[in-house]
Amino acid sequence: VEVMLANGKRLRAKQVVCTIPFSALRGISIDANLPEALRSTIERLPYTKASFAFLHASTSFWKGDGLPETIWTDDPLIGRVFALDGDPPLLKVWLNGPRAEALDRMEPATAGKEMIRRIERIRPSAQGKLEYLDIFSWQKQPFAGGIYHHIGTGLGASLAATVQHRGRRLHFAGEHMARLASGMEGALESGERAALMVLEKL
Ligand SMILES: Cc1cc2nc3c(=O)[nH]c(=O)nc-3n(C[C@H](O)[C@H](O)[C@H](O)COP(=O)(O)OP(=O)(O)OC[C@H]3O[C@@H](n4cnc5c(N)ncnc54)[C@H](O)[C@@H]3O)c2cc1C
Repeated sequence: VEVMLANGKRLRAKQVVCTIPFSALRGISIDANLPEALRSTIERLPYTKASFAFLHASTSFWKGDGLPETIWTDDPLIGRVFALDGDPPLLKVWLNGPRAEALDRMEPATAGKEMIRRIERIRPSAQGKLEYLDIFSWQKQPFAGGIYHHIGTGLGASLAATVQHRGRRLHFAGEHMARLASGMEGALESGERAALMVLEKL
């Protein structure tokens, strides 16, 4: 297998395990005779969108107002708010799907200011204690394209075929190739399976 790097260098190996998320892999050309289901899954597998905003808190006000630390709302600009009790204490605003995309389109500081206004309205103990720090969009990261995959409508059968793929020299692994678990455990499970497939061939 020959792998061409962005800097023009080439790597050669008898066996290759590719763990690039399909959202990023679809921007890379693969010159191999891959089954149709695998090609189609690489092209179409959807990745969950998530954008975060980080707000600096002058005090951990969520510890003293008698309310639960985490805030779950139906407000499109706030979504879920998690308290991070580090030094300094922070709030992490977590938005998914179309709400994350809407946040991505906003000017960050303006979005942060509006979030603070809304949090102060629903949680008065936050009044005057929050300051906007940063926004992070997983779907804007070219090496991620989202936080993790989900099974898109009509894609179950091709994904089921894809996770059973046994390559000759090119193997795929990562959370998107898991059969049993999701997330990190899925990444480990599929990585172990790919490593065993490689060992069988050596
Ligand atoms: C915010 C967040 C919270 C999560 N929470 C949990 C949780 O609580 N529990 C859980 O089990 N899982 C959680 N997950 C999911 C878990 O982190 C992932 O499923 C797991 O890390 C996937 O591992 P992976 O090896 O498949 O992919 P990644 O860890 O994404 O590794 C893929 C690697 O490929 C690299 N890459 C991509 N494109 C290229 C390229 N062109 N060239 C070279 N390298 C490239 C990337 O930089 C990356 O390092 C969370 C994920 C996120 C984003």
